[in-house]
Amino acid sequence: MRSEAELTKLFREGGKKITPQRQCIFRILQDNQTHPSAEAIFDAARLEMDSISLKTVYQTLNELVEIGEILSLDFGTGAFRFDPNNSAHHHLICTKCGQIRDLQLANLVPELPSELAQGFRVSKAEVTYRGICVRCDN
Ligand SMILES: [Zn+2]
Ligand SMILES: [Zn+2]
Repeated sequence: MRSEAELTKLFREGGKKITPQRQCIFRILQDNQTHPSAEAIFDAARLEMDSISLKTVYQTLNELVEIGEILSLDFGTGAFRFDPNNSAHHHLICTKCGQIRDLQLANLVPELPSELAQGFRVSKAEVTYRGICVRCDN
């Protein structure tokens, strides 16, 4: 994901709305490795800016997803999670505390068996490891 200043410029040039609330969301997402839900971003933003609405959070997140600046991920945890690491990567999820960590591996995804690969063009593949993190494992 680009910096707050770059995103501000990009949004302006694209005719998208720029407000202090939206810039606050950019800042919260920047280098955020927690894979926050919209609600978690809303809670963090409210500490800085009590005039922010959950609707603004959702709209801004949707626009960032649309232009490919962030990823929207569904791990089946009940809410979409948002990721400013928009490179192709995989995840480790602790099933106890819910912590989600990035996993950057070049050749992790197994190739499709040839009978399937013939009738299917893969554009993207993700692997999710579920287990117990070191903090929960004691
Ligand atoms: Zn854990
Ligand atoms: Zn991630």
